[in-house]
Amino acid sequence: MKMVFLGPPGAGKGTIAAKAKDYYGIPHISTGDLFRNNIKNETPLGLQVKSILGSGGLVPDSITIEMVRNRISESDCAKGFILDGFPRTIAQADALAEMTDIDAVVNFDISSEEVIERLSGRRMCPSTGRIYHIVFNPPKVAGKDDETGEDLIQRDDDKEDAIKHRLEVYTSQTQPLIDYYTERGLIRNVKTNNRLQPEDVFELTKKALNG
Ligand code: ADP
Ligand code: ADP
Repeated sequence: MKMVFLGPPGAGKGTIAAKAKDYYGIPHISTGDLFRNNIKNETPLGLQVKSILGSGGLVPDSITIEMVRNRISESDCAKGFILDGFPRTIAQADALAEMTDIDAVVNFDISSEEVIERLSGRRMCPSTGRIYHIVFNPPKVAGKDDETGEDLIQRDDDKEDAIKHRLEVYTSQTQPLIDYYTERGLIRNVKTNNRLQPEDVFELTKKALNG
């Protein structure tokens, strides 16, 4: 199954994708993680996009589209994949439609107040990308990854100014994709909030995909 996870920053795309990838046995492709890995390894792409990620803006379509084209042409993607954080613009969605046929687009619907609560408490393992929240999904030992024991970090773009900018970018550039995919009959809506456990949201996601 080839699917796209759509939703504002902090909607829980990465958290649910980490569960869905094991359940469906397909790779989880997060464009944010791909960019962050390039930044960490100081590749030419990483150097090019570092300041864009820091400010919460979007990487140019041409760069992002080529990165995804390369990734989904790898052999592990033949049976399907979960695209998390791509497409984020209509141009990216058009490019994706030319690359392959998508089976479903899960739209994680959440209020902006709850998103802000989530993003400001998000912590991440820098090497594995594993995601935590200081209140909603805390690690077993404060500040440490459950499996590797590494120090968790707060993403630069999870600080107040960048969060605000990312939400504006989402509204203007990405939200129009809900109509785009609704018109194509692909949208599966999942309503989420901070009182639902990630496990519950994953159950709703499976139902939305089967229904
Ligand atoms: P979020 O947690 O907000 O969903 P991501 O980890 O998906 O964030 O993305 C982090 C940053 O990486 C974005 O703010 C943007 O700068 C860049 N990025 C990720 N995916 C894309 C994309 N499809 N197009 C352009 N930029 C992207
Ligand atoms: P996205 O990939 O859409 O940006 P994440 O999966 O990184 O979102 O989740 C954002 C933050 O919200 C993380 O700190 C995560 O632990 C937390 N979170 C995810 N799902 C839930 C949930 N159902 N309830 C409360 N917090 C959640």
